[in-house]
Amino acid sequence: MTDESCIMTTVRAAINGTTTSTLFGGHGRAFEVPEGHRVTIVNTFGTQVVDMWSIVRGDGSEYLSLAHTHVHAARLTPRAGDELWSNRRRPILRFEVDTSPGVHDALLAACDRERYALLGHVGYHRNCTDNFKQACTEADVPYRTVPDPFNLFQNTPVEEDERIGAEIGQTKPGDFVTFLALCDLYVVLSACPMDMNPINGSKVSDVEVTVHQDHEVR
Ligand SMILES: [Zn+2]
Repeated sequence: MTDESCIMTTVRAAINGTTTSTLFGGHGRAFEVPEGHRVTIVNTFGTQVVDMWSIVRGDGSEYLSLAHTHVHAARLTPRAGDELWSNRRRPILRFEVDTSPGVHDALLAACDRERYALLGHVGYHRNCTDNFKQACTEADVPYRTVPDPFNLFQNTPVEEDERIGAEIGQTKPGDFVTFLALCDLYVVLSACPMDMNPINGSKVSDVEVTVHQDHEVR
């Protein structure tokens, strides 16, 4: 068994032994992840973008900051093995496993109702910013602002001329990522409802989310 298949088997076994939640396409949800626990996000059908935020439990003013992560990871886009830093300059998550091609976005803001209006949509359109607010409200998670998210599985490459593209995600069905919580925190996720550019492929789809503890995945 290769290292990668061993990791996948181990993670899947852990998932089978815990409660896995379906995050419905276009919707958001907050998950409590205690220190030492992991959250695994499975891209069940492939190509689905998942916006990810994290807020430190007990202090709604400390949150995952990609700008600070850029400084300390010294990398434009975090990859497996990197730590994700908060706006108080401490690592709060470790990006442990990534079975996808590793194409994610750490630059762009979450979609919001204004984004869809500018694209020509008339009326309300579900969006990741409102999903974040709704998920936090439902789970009683305090927050001071809507931080810029880590856009998992989002293929918005920086081109040679530094233009930013918007292309279909490269994630295959069943690809997953796992993060280890380095302190008590919440992870807030939105299965992005974008259907006015190609980033989600031809459809907005569900993903599976599991909070688990009992395995080593490095
Ligand atoms: Zn979105």
